[in-house]
Amino acid sequence: MSISFLKNLEQIMPYVGGMPIEELSRKIGISENNIIKLASNENPYGISPKTKKAIQDFIDFNLYPDGSGYELIKTISKKFNLDPEQVVLGNGSNDILELAARIVVSKNSEIMFSEHAFAVYNLVAKSIGAQENIIPSKNYAHDLLAFEKHISKNTKLIFIANPNNPTGTYINKNDLYRFISKVPSEVLIVLDEAYDEYLDEEDKSEALKWVKDFNNLLVSRSFSKAYGLASLRIGYGISSKAVIEMINRVRQPFNANSIAQVAANAAIKDSPFVEMSYEKNKEQKLFMENAFKSLNIDFIKSYGNFISFQLGSADDAVECYEYLLKKGIILRPISNYGMPKFLRVSIGTPKENKTFIEVLSEFLGKNK
Ligand SMILES: *Cc1c(COP(=O)(O)O)cnc(C)c1O
Repeated sequence: MSISFLKNLEQIMPYVGGMPIEELSRKIGISENNIIKLASNENPYGISPKTKKAIQDFIDFNLYPDGSGYELIKTISKKFNLDPEQVVLGNGSNDILELAARIVVSKNSEIMFSEHAFAVYNLVAKSIGAQENIIPSKNYAHDLLAFEKHISKNTKLIFIANPNNPTGTYINKNDLYRFISKVPSEVLIVLDEAYDEYLDEEDKSEALKWVKDFNNLLVSRSFSKAYGLASLRIGYGISSKAVIEMINRVRQPFNANSIAQVAANAAIKDSPFVEMSYEKNKEQKLFMENAFKSLNIDFIKSYGNFISFQLGSADDAVECYEYLLKKGIILRPISNYGMPKFLRVSIGTPKENKTFIEVLSEFLGKNK
């Protein structure tokens, strides 16, 4: 049914997330404990003990959150040596991405991002009625030279995910800095760093220092991935005071809830847990890469906590996804990212990964 005043939004395809464990359990009657979800790049080791304690001690359910996010912003700004006025909290970093668009983009102005980039950029652009300028990728990665060439008077916002999801590709710091310095100062650049904690030390972002040089740079970070707080919806943005002030004017007054603030404040201080998560991810990513190689499966080298791997055809990818589902393993199909032959698998615990590889080999053997 078409309602005329909804016409502009009809071309938006709803975001499809990884299938929840409960849903698969209902569908195929396997108990939730026997289901392995490797579909949404969540931390397979849960949350840190200190974070758990902070959540258990929380009791102020009846009170509104601190809308200024004072304590958490204090911790974040100290950690990165920033002014608190350069930090804003979001209801997940997804919130920051939307707010960035809200402060600079109007109908018919243009948002630029890469082919195969994070799906939310597309949703943000379409929901505002902005033009999308989707820059073809180069070997699945962002092609920043092409970005630079296509910036026009209408370009108001550029989204860059580094590392990108679902491809896992990474832009090195020199290329990124060079690009940012070429972008006109009236264009807002959003650097989405949801997976920064999973990068090796020498690859870790320095963009939080660059915000001093570029007033038009906004960096978004998430507590949903390495910190293990996906369910609480908390992330943050770091930029110039001017940009943060505008976001503060348009965001919901209580966009970051109290438990999320308390949990994130404990999580960001508990560095051993994040380090363990990084180490295990690195080790297990290597296990997965080697397993793919021995199974003769092509994959894109990933800098995150997930890998996108390629099947023989789009039909094979669907078949493989469904085969794994029947065995209680949830992966993420990424045809909506223009990658129909691929499936994305999150790096799980050693046991989860081993089971996944076993069932995958079973599927490949059956299909020979
Ligand atoms: C997961 C993800 C996010 C969103 O995370 P939040 O849960 O909203 O903080 C943002 N960007 C990318 C590239 C992601 O993969």
